[in-house]
Amino acid sequence: MYSGVRVRFAPSPTGSLHIGGARTALFNYLFARASGGSFILRLEDTDFERRLAHAEEGINQSLTWLGLDWDEGPGIGGPYGPYRQSERLDLYRQEAERLLSAGLAYHCFCTPEELAAEREEARQSGRAPRYSGRCCALTAGERSAKVAAGVKATLRLKMPGDGKTVVDDAIRGEVVFENATLDDFIVMKSNGVPTYNFACVVDDAAMRITHVIRAEEHLSNTPKQVLVYRALGYEPPVFAHVPMILAPDRAKLSKRHGATGVEEFRAQGYLPEALFNYLALLGWSPGDERELLSREEIVGEFSLAAVSRHAAIYDVQKLTWLNSQYLSSVTAARVYELALPFFRAAGLISETINPQDSEYIREVIETVRSRARTLGELADMSSYFFRDDFNYDPKGVRKVFHASGVPALLREGKEALARVEEPFDPANTEAAYRRLIEKLGVSGGALIHPTRLALTGRTVGPGLFDVIALLGKRRTLERLERAAAWIIDHVPRG
Ligand code: GLU
Repeated sequence: MYSGVRVRFAPSPTGSLHIGGARTALFNYLFARASGGSFILRLEDTDFERRLAHAEEGINQSLTWLGLDWDEGPGIGGPYGPYRQSERLDLYRQEAERLLSAGLAYHCFCTPEELAAEREEARQSGRAPRYSGRCCALTAGERSAKVAAGVKATLRLKMPGDGKTVVDDAIRGEVVFENATLDDFIVMKSNGVPTYNFACVVDDAAMRITHVIRAEEHLSNTPKQVLVYRALGYEPPVFAHVPMILAPDRAKLSKRHGATGVEEFRAQGYLPEALFNYLALLGWSPGDERELLSREEIVGEFSLAAVSRHAAIYDVQKLTWLNSQYLSSVTAARVYELALPFFRAAGLISETINPQDSEYIREVIETVRSRARTLGELADMSSYFFRDDFNYDPKGVRKVFHASGVPALLREGKEALARVEEPFDPANTEAAYRRLIEKLGVSGGALIHPTRLALTGRTVGPGLFDVIALLGKRRTLERLERAAAWIIDHVPRG
């Protein structure tokens, strides 16, 4: 189905992709996919001072990682390219020329100092700062004199001055702006570079964008943009402003609220499936209590009409909960592929993996993954399967190794496990331990807790006999002996 819907995500490459931007990209993507339309990526990179060298690459990677593939954009091209604003400067100049010759825009020669003085005056007399429009009144002679004197000019769009501009927002309904509050704003800077409000409209029109879905903070720009559309003789698209994302304390989301960048979530071991699901719920809901929704369900059910106009509250606990759900439910092959870089980063495995190692890593992952909330935790919780040189958790030492007779118990355990016939599997090792517990007349915990600490350095983890079977006989026996000797050396006898 091709619906003619065309939406765009238009980031400025001034930093990495944050959850706000990712959510905007996602809603555009979902709307495009749900309606059989096109999703376009456009780089708004004309702020040469704030532009960062690798930001475009980073944004592309984050979008790709999230699975938000675009149909047209920088790199892949498309029928309405180029897709970087820095490569479209001629178009903005032509359109600006059109406004100028139609008498809808005028050159402004005011210096930054003059404008600052005007703003200060407004501030002191309690008025909203607004350009006075004085250059609009210059005579042709005055204008030529300025040009001859080499004064740089910006181009300003003439505003109606009175009346109202109504934005019929697909999420917020009708929003009415008094034109008297809008001043003749700059569309082209004196260096020939367009401002955001101008370039955005020129591009949205040229790229045949049908729906502008973006952050609520741009709502106040919308009447200006509508007036640019009118001045240029284009039909405005449908606007949809998605609600703000607030921190749990309802403050603006910032660094102090923890990770907010897509790349940070990736690095901590969040799954793209989980972030995709979570971002979709920041302002949208399927209309019932479901929170764990597959990509297909979200694409199938998404609609702008169901997007809330109220701020969404960012809740990292919910994201983490979703992540653990995905971590334990995606296929073994998927979690393996996602986990490998984390195992490498933790120094648990090397770059090249032979088939035998690969099989072992898969088994470790299957044993541990239901307990981990992130891939980072999964690697951490798996470390003792790959290294022998771990320390014993000090709390565990006090609680478990300090009990009397533990070294002897561990050696009994070692002897019992040494006698286990092949296969050295969870059933056989557990049976051996049960027999030993009965023979010694101790509680199960008295043997099992120190054994776990001896084998893993930790007090909690997967089923002990799964751990034992996976470590194998040799390593299990070695670790039991190492712990027994360690306790004798380190634990004061009471
Ligand atoms: N470059 C703008 C931003 O990143 C785009 C806003 C828009 O979508 O119109 O906020």
